[in-house]
Amino acid sequence: MLPVLALLPGLFACCSGSSSPARTPSVPARPATATPAPPIRVRLRSLIGNRTNRIEVDGPYRLVSLPTGKLIDSGTSLNRDLRTAGASISEARRLIPENRRFRLGGRPYRGTLRMEPGQLGVDLMVETDLESYLPGVLEAELGASFPPAALRAQAIAARTYALHKTSIRGPTRSFDVADDQSDQVYRGTPLVAAGPLFEAVAGTRGMILKSAGKPLPAYFHSTCGGHTAAAHDVFGGAPILSLPGVPCRYCEGSRTFRWSVPISLSQAGKALGMAGKLRDISIGKTDRGGRARTFVLTGDRTVERSAAEVRMALGPALLRSTLILSIKISGSEIRFEGGGFGHGVGLCQMGARGMALQGAAASDILGHYYPGAKLVRRY
Ligand SMILES: [Zn+2]
Repeated sequence: MLPVLALLPGLFACCSGSSSPARTPSVPARPATATPAPPIRVRLRSLIGNRTNRIEVDGPYRLVSLPTGKLIDSGTSLNRDLRTAGASISEARRLIPENRRFRLGGRPYRGTLRMEPGQLGVDLMVETDLESYLPGVLEAELGASFPPAALRAQAIAARTYALHKTSIRGPTRSFDVADDQSDQVYRGTPLVAAGPLFEAVAGTRGMILKSAGKPLPAYFHSTCGGHTAAAHDVFGGAPILSLPGVPCRYCEGSRTFRWSVPISLSQAGKALGMAGKLRDISIGKTDRGGRARTFVLTGDRTVERSAAEVRMALGPALLRSTLILSIKISGSEIRFEGGGFGHGVGLCQMGARGMALQGAAASDILGHYYPGAKLVRRY
């Protein structure tokens, strides 16, 4: 076997490893024969900025060129640094572990790894199936300590969201979902292949929410702070039937139900790209749930900016939501007092936890946060 380094110019960096290698009415019945889960392509956005990522395969693997199908390399195991940011490859490639398991950047994944020339270097995509993907989403989004009904509700919401994304992105895009907050967080397959995360996925296999005959864009967020937001108030576009914004007191136990953060006026002015010194900031328009839709900023002149844009500019972990209860300016400091964490649309994860602890079933939770959506078994 020739050394991998010789066969993969520009891809693997120098290495030390081995060289070769609405209240939903009822739960639909499970079909008598299991249909395979649909494929899903997850872009590993969280790893793409790394200069290298360790790639490990415990067992035989093949690396093939996607345009030609030609074998580029193979071996009995692989343990190397994969060059990513700043690297270049001439054509797309697929790494195929025989046992469909590999580790990348220390995270375990199931499926195959596609590498493509990208803007920052080499773009990385895991190609797997929806049911193998979901336990990792549950682990990253909620964790195994959440009550089973909340995990089941999240599994159905995440499956639905992924299918929605698959249907709108279509086969011409090289991925369906990203592995970070821009879609749903995914850090690989949980190490222990049993337990509540896997039970929640297996127990809801194939189940999704439909609205107007299509998979619902089943958004979710950490904590709503008392009322979820209507999708169109946050993302624009036409109102979505099952995402109208609903009251929620179930997340009162969340650490981010209420919060208070200071930020210096000069820092905020810089982050917001204000011409001149930022002197004042106040809430402009609000939605029906009380969230800010716009902020009015006063520097050299007064401008009105979208609240979602201001939140992203100041930092979504700092200004945790657009549910702002008060803004006080004293001296050189602004203090925001607010409620909730996240965009506020769809299922409130801490609310789902609260409902589950009060005895609600997954279908009750979904019915509350996605009123009118139909729970169906897709496969
Ligand atoms: Zn809530």
